[in-house]
Formats: sequence, C-alpha cells, structure tokens
Amino acid sequence: MIPGARLIILGRQGAGKGTQCVRLSRHYVVPHISTGDMLRAAAREGTDLGTAAKKIMDAGGLVGDDIMIGLVDERLEKADASTRGYILDGFPRTVTQAEALDGLTARKPIHVVIDLDVPREIVLERISSRRVCRDCGTNYRTSGDDPSPWICDVCGGDVQQRADDTPDAVNRRLDLYETQTAPLIEYFSSRGALAVINGVGHPDHVFKRLTDAVEARR
Ligand code: ADP
Repeated sequence: MIPGARLIILGRQGAGKGTQCVRLSRHYVVPHISTGDMLRAAAREGTDLGTAAKKIMDAGGLVGDDIMIGLVDERLEKADASTRGYILDGFPRTVTQAEALDGLTARKPIHVVIDLDVPREIVLERISSRRVCRDCGTNYRTSGDDPSPWICDVCGGDVQQRADDTPDAVNRRLDLYETQTAPLIEYFSSRGALAVINGVGHPDHVFKRLTDAVEARR
C-alpha cells in the first residue's frame, strides 16, 4: 500500500461515510476533510460563518456554493493536504461545487470518487438511531436506554443526537441529496472516475470493498 491518496466519498446521509472516512484516513495517513465537521466547528466557535451555517444546517438545507468552495480551497492549500492527499467527505455536494473542485485539483487530480451506496429506507432507519460525539464525531447507535450524560468512549466528549437528525430535517436533506448531489454520480461516472461501492453489510467488509476500489485505481 502506498500511503497518500486523494479521494472523494459520496453517498446518502447515514450511509456510514463519516465512520469509513475516519478509517480510510488512518489507513492512507491523510487528513479526513469533512465539510459538515468544519461547519459544526465554526458553529461551536460562534464565528459569523458558523452562526449563519448553523441555521441552514439545522433546517436540513445546503450552505451556499461560494462559501463552501472558499472553505475547501483554503483547506486543500494546507501543508498536510497539499503534500500527502486527503479524503473529502461531504464535498462536492452540487455540480457547481464539483466544477470548482476540478479547477482546485487541476495539478493534482483526484484518484477516485467513491459512491457509498445505501438505499434510502436503510439510511432513514440508521439516522433516526444515530447519536454523535460533539467533539470528535464518533458515531453511536441508541438502544433507547441511553446513559445520561452519555460520554464518548474515544475522547470523553458529549454524545448527543445531531440537531439536524430530526425527521423533518432528515427528509429535507435526503430530498436535497436526490436533486443536488445524486447528479454527481453521472458527472463523475462519465469521466471514468467513479466506483460504486455497496455500503450495506458489516463495516469491516465495507471498508475492504473501499480499499480494494482505491487500490484498483491508483
Ligand atoms: P450529512 O451528510 O449527514 O447531511 P454533513 O455532516 O456532511 O452531514 O453535513 C451537515 C450539513 O452541513 C449539511 O446538511 C449542510 O447543511 C452542510 N454542508 C456540509 N457540506 C456541505 C456542502 N458541501 N455544501 C453545502 N452544505 C454543506
């Protein structure tokens, strides 16, 4: 395995992207760049961007393309990403963002775009039982009888339900996925850059499918 990789992971909300991206980032020793985590961190810090983004996120909407493109541009310039590579999680989410990313990666193209495919019925069920550490983003599944307070095993942070994991916001996010993000599957597929990976099954098996797809393309 050659360390370093430039990957994009697409897929519906609740497809397990976050967890698999954390594993992939350890495996390839590259930063995991999650635009959702970046926006949530900005919201916690109370920056102007964070406060504006929080309203949109809680309602299940999409933050404007220009803002997102600027954020990612700045992040990809940092030394870790520009020298080693990265895993992009949650970006691009619209065709406009994908076109801008083509420009940002012109000199160092993406190795592979992966669509982690999990059907809508399954992700709806997964998201409703999802609980997340506010600090490190580790995902948990509620059994309906949660400890209170619920402390993250990994970092000691607070484990909570995300404000945008309510049924209304989830349905809005999934609808936006179908109209805004799903067209990216055709966009990348027509360039021969796409691998569709079945995201249903044991996380270890899904991880193996992902690394096999990456190795096959590098
Ligand atoms: P999920 O994939 O479960 O919706 P994320 O953590 O990726 O969660 O993103 C959370 C929210 O952050 C999104 O619903 C959206 O409001 C905002 N967001 C993240 N990335 C983008 C992006 N590339 N473009 C627009 N909005 C984004």
